[in-house]
This record gives sequence, C-alpha cells and structure tokens, in this order.
Amino acid sequence: MSIAPPDFESIWQTADRPDAGELGLCVHCGFCLNACPTYHDLGVETGSPRGRIALMRGLDDGRLEWSPRVQQHFDQCLQCRACETACPSKVPYGRLMEATRAEAFAQDRWPRRQRIIWRVIMRGLFPYPRRMRLAGYGLKLYQTSGLQSLVRRSGLLKRLAPKLAEIDALSPNADRPFYSNAEAARVSPKRTPRAHASLVTGCMMPLAYPDTHRATVNVFARNGVAVDAPSAQVCCGALHAHGGDVEASRDLARANIDAFTPLGSELPDAVLINAAGCGSHLKEYGHLLRNDEEYADRAAAFASRVRDVHEWLVEIGFELPMGRIERRVTYQDSCHLSHAQGIRKAPREVLTSIPGLELAEMRTPDRCCGSAGIYSVVQSEISQRVLAEKMSDVLGTGADQICTANPGCMLQLDAGIARFDDDQRMIPRSIHAIELLDESYRLGDQAQTR
Ligand code: SF4
Ligand code: SF4
Repeated sequence: MSIAPPDFESIWQTADRPDAGELGLCVHCGFCLNACPTYHDLGVETGSPRGRIALMRGLDDGRLEWSPRVQQHFDQCLQCRACETACPSKVPYGRLMEATRAEAFAQDRWPRRQRIIWRVIMRGLFPYPRRMRLAGYGLKLYQTSGLQSLVRRSGLLKRLAPKLAEIDALSPNADRPFYSNAEAARVSPKRTPRAHASLVTGCMMPLAYPDTHRATVNVFARNGVAVDAPSAQVCCGALHAHGGDVEASRDLARANIDAFTPLGSELPDAVLINAAGCGSHLKEYGHLLRNDEEYADRAAAFASRVRDVHEWLVEIGFELPMGRIERRVTYQDSCHLSHAQGIRKAPREVLTSIPGLELAEMRTPDRCCGSAGIYSVVQSEISQRVLAEKMSDVLGTGADQICTANPGCMLQLDAGIARFDDDQRMIPRSIHAIELLDESYRLGDQAQTR
C-alpha cells in the first residue's frame, strides 16, 4: 500500500498570516510551558505555547487541516504573552497568535452566533464613543434603579441566561460621572509646561474608570505637563486585533492617527495611556499599518510617542508625594504592561514613593488574572479557574486593595474580590497607581494648609 505524500500547500489565505521565519524561531525547548496559565490549567501540549506554535506550523506546511478542534486550541490562548518573557529564542508569540486569529477571522472560522455578536458589539458599539456613552447611561440606569441588585439576588439570570449573568458580574460600576475629553482642558500646570502630552481616553475607561483619567491629568499637570485629550479619538482597536478583526483595528488606528497627529501638526511629546492593553497595541500601530502607503510613516511616528503613564512619569521624573496613605496594597502586573511592554519597575517605583503605603508582593504578580479582553466571557470556565488561583495569591498577601494597570484586569479582579473575599476584608474596587499618587498629592496639600 502506498501512502499519499502530504499536501504541502499552506492553508493561510491572507497577507496577515503568521510569518514563517518567526514560526521557525521556536526550538521546542519548553521553557515557556511553566509560564503558561492555560498549560498549567489544561495540562495538555495543545494548551501550551509550544503546542500552539506546532499547530500553526502544521497549518503552514499543510500537514494539518483547520478544524474546529484546532481553532479551539487557539481560542483557549489568553494572549497574555507570558511565554514571550520566558522564551530564550525570542519567539514573538503575541504577533504570531494575532496573525493566526486574523487568518481565522478572515476565513470565517468562527461559529455563526459568535460572528453576529462580534459584529453587533465590537463593530457596532465599541468604535463609536456616542453609542458607548448611551450604553453607559443604560447601565447606569440598570444599576441605580436597583434592578441589578434585584436580578443578582433572585439568581434568575444565572438560571435563564448564564452567559448574560457572567457579563453582568463583570460589568463596571457606572454609578459615577463619566469622563469627558473636555475635562483635560480644565486642568493646567501651575508653571510654564515642560512638555505636552495627548491622553488616549479609550472606549471603556471614560465610563468604567473615569477617576483614573482625572487622576492622570492632575498628576501630569502637577508635574509640569500640559495634557489634552483629542475629541475626535476613538477606541484603539486592541480588542479587535486580539480577536482577529484586523481590518477594523486598522480603521480605528487610522482614525486615531488623524485625531492625535493631524497632517502638518507637531507630534505631542507623549501619546499618554493608562490602560496597559491599549498601550501595547498603540505601540504596535507601526507594524499594524506597515503596508499602508498613506499611513505607514505616520503610524510609526505615532507609535514612537506612545508612553504608558508609569513609564513616562519615571522617565521625566516626578515630584515625590507627601500625603500618607496607610494601606497595604498588592500589585498585579497587567500582562500587556509586563510581558508585552516590559514595564515592571516603574509602577512599583510610583507605589513605593507614597508615604505609609505598603507594597505586599504576590507569589506570581505577573501571572494573568484571566481577563484577557473578551476571554473572560467567551472562555469563562478557564478564565474563572485562572482567576481563582490569582485570588488565592492575592488573599495570601493580606493586602487591603489590589492595584493594577488595565481596565479589563480591574473588572476581573473586582469580580474576584466579590466572589472569593469571604471575610469582605478587601476594598471591593481595585485601583490604578496613578490614582493613589494623585490622592497622596492631595492629602499632602491638605496637610500643608492645615
Ligand atoms: S520557550 Fe520559545 S523556543 Fe522554547 S518552546 Fe517555548 S516558544 Fe519555543
Ligand atoms: S499567550 Fe499566555 S496563554 Fe497563550 S500560550 Fe502564551 S503564556 Fe500561554
């Protein structure tokens, strides 16, 4: 019997396919396995970075068919990029996985229901600030009318629509005034500004964590930086790129480049961002638009100015705060700050500068919390197990509050506190380091005027 030779025709169909040279960098050493939360959870090779790279290679050289099972192994990846930190061969895993997902999206490899939901929410809602604001008002009404607590107490949603109940558990507290981009203009440095920054306000943050934006503008103004927030900006497109909808992500990138760096204008000293997932994507705009004749150079210039708030504060130097905050805080490294941007020291430098504040480190602060964009909704079972481990680590520190650097992580960890902090000892809202710094400045000023 003769065995038919394998069909070595690649299964990739789009220009966004993973780069064969980058795939070839993996030498199968396995150093990444221990760092991978899904390998830890699932315990199978196909749930590991090395296994997923082998699947990509199989698709690339035609040894493998693209089946729902193969797709599932890709979908189960958190894209936390802990494997990149661990990899001695510098395999750009995040980029490879984004390219794989872009290919899957272009080839319509998702179930129909998932595709429809994506188009309604990710294409129909997130890119439009006005629609997001309307959705925010709807959420506010749902929460302030008492309907949310009624729904939660009754357990009805859990029984009738478990997926909706999961989304409800992760919904942000909208019971605060939303952030408007015009607010940045109302705060200015007391002396002649030493720099000018443009703040990326994003899609979720103005609704979910408006105080983080307020604190960011206050802190930088105090440190002599004039901050504006271009009103024509839109969602950065990180969630779209992570999901594989790379064309939507490119459209959003172009709109942001036009908003932040209109043709003929000077670049700001920094394009400032306080959300880690968005920051790592904004730094990739150059790569995202590398083949766009009109935008490639502008995208690279834009990306070169993107700075995470902790990173830039430490880079330009910041006034030491004087107000005491007697609190034990544990810091969760957001994956896209630590693994994707390599920023670990700067947030700790900010936190430890605050008098009275104690930083209680977890065993594994850079292990993903299971949020990972929309992962907590579409892969909720794995996400909840990853969160359970994270919360055991958090609670083991005896901290009063969690500090982290990304809205997705904040929502996930807040849900974790509600679910796992049985003694209700912790402050039920995680916080950004920039808010603590702002609070310390304010308390210091108050103490001086007394
Ligand atoms: S550590 Fe890097 S080279 Fe080694 S198996 Fe993992 S991805 Fe491949
Ligand atoms: S990105 Fe995270 S979940 Fe995905 S393979 Fe790498 S370490 Fe594992």
